[in-house]
Amino acid sequence: MMNIPNRKEYLQQQSQSGQQIMGVLPALYPREMLWAFDILPAEIWDPPGDILHANAHLQATICPVVKRSLEFILKEPDIINAGYLFPHTCDSLQNLATQVKDLIGVPVPVYSFYNPKGEFNRTTRQYYTDILGDFQTILEQQHGSLDRKKLSTACKLGHKIDSRRLELQNARMTDRLPLSNSEYFQLIRAGEYLQPEDYLKLLDAISIPDEPIPNDKARIMVSGILPPHPDMLEYFDDLHLSLVADDLLAGSRRIPRIKLDPPQDPMEYLTERFFLLPPCSTKAGSLDERFRYLNKRIGNSQAQGVLFNIVKFCEPELFDHHLMVKALKDTGIPVLSMDTELQGGLSGQDKTRIEALGELLRDRMVS
Ligand code: SF4
Repeated sequence: MMNIPNRKEYLQQQSQSGQQIMGVLPALYPREMLWAFDILPAEIWDPPGDILHANAHLQATICPVVKRSLEFILKEPDIINAGYLFPHTCDSLQNLATQVKDLIGVPVPVYSFYNPKGEFNRTTRQYYTDILGDFQTILEQQHGSLDRKKLSTACKLGHKIDSRRLELQNARMTDRLPLSNSEYFQLIRAGEYLQPEDYLKLLDAISIPDEPIPNDKARIMVSGILPPHPDMLEYFDDLHLSLVADDLLAGSRRIPRIKLDPPQDPMEYLTERFFLLPPCSTKAGSLDERFRYLNKRIGNSQAQGVLFNIVKFCEPELFDHHLMVKALKDTGIPVLSMDTELQGGLSGQDKTRIEALGELLRDRMVS
């Protein structure tokens, strides 16, 4: 049984004990650098609650991640005491960063981190190393000189977390992880707010048996930005449908594809790590490469179908979605695409569509 601290309570306790906490918007950022400055990143993806004030600042066709994040920021939560960080993930988040910094204004610093986009080469690697250095300089203005030893320790900790996440992910794909859909994604998402030492303890406490656990559930890979809402995950559990693999920005797209060597030079390690992350719609890379990667993952996990869990109005995902669906269907893989506004509850129509996918996959298992 996993004992995962509640996100809000955990962060409140951290804040009350004097911890510096930075609100970090999705998705890719050098978390090790923040840890080295004794800053705890608290990632903001889908804060719960009604959207009361954010709509006044945003177009109607903006994704719910941006809406919910802005609503959270407008409430000026006192747990966020070290600023906000906006990685360059998509135009919507970049616009939000500008709005929060220049128009709305918040009582804490606002930082940006401009991840590279497109096809990667040697120049891009140099660019990434340079922006890491720039980010360090900017943080030093608020938090004093970076302690190189702390950065080295943080990279070693990050390396252990990545390695364990990779082991757990591979165990899940090969039926050696005794966790339900709900438990697995709760475990993955705990890394968005726990101290790295606490998160590593949690990951290490999960035992991986040597032999596969008998599994007669239908197997599905889920792709998108976030895992399905916990209500939907429970429904998949109820129907004996197992999300055996993921291609999620909040999940496997943030774990290097292979286990890296233990860090020697922190900046080189962080650069290497970034370029070993899987393909992602938000990096605007090659669609062929992304499709090949998805196909390999389907093969490794023996997934029989793919669920696209699309955050409504998410431009990067929608840009790739049509071609990914067509390419998968051409190879005979059943696909279900569902829009999400990141709210709880399931409509009757959602249930019917999930049941239909389950039946199709089960029919294929017996035929
Ligand atoms: S859901 Fe899509 S559009 Fe919204 S912030 Fe994330 S990447 Fe950007």
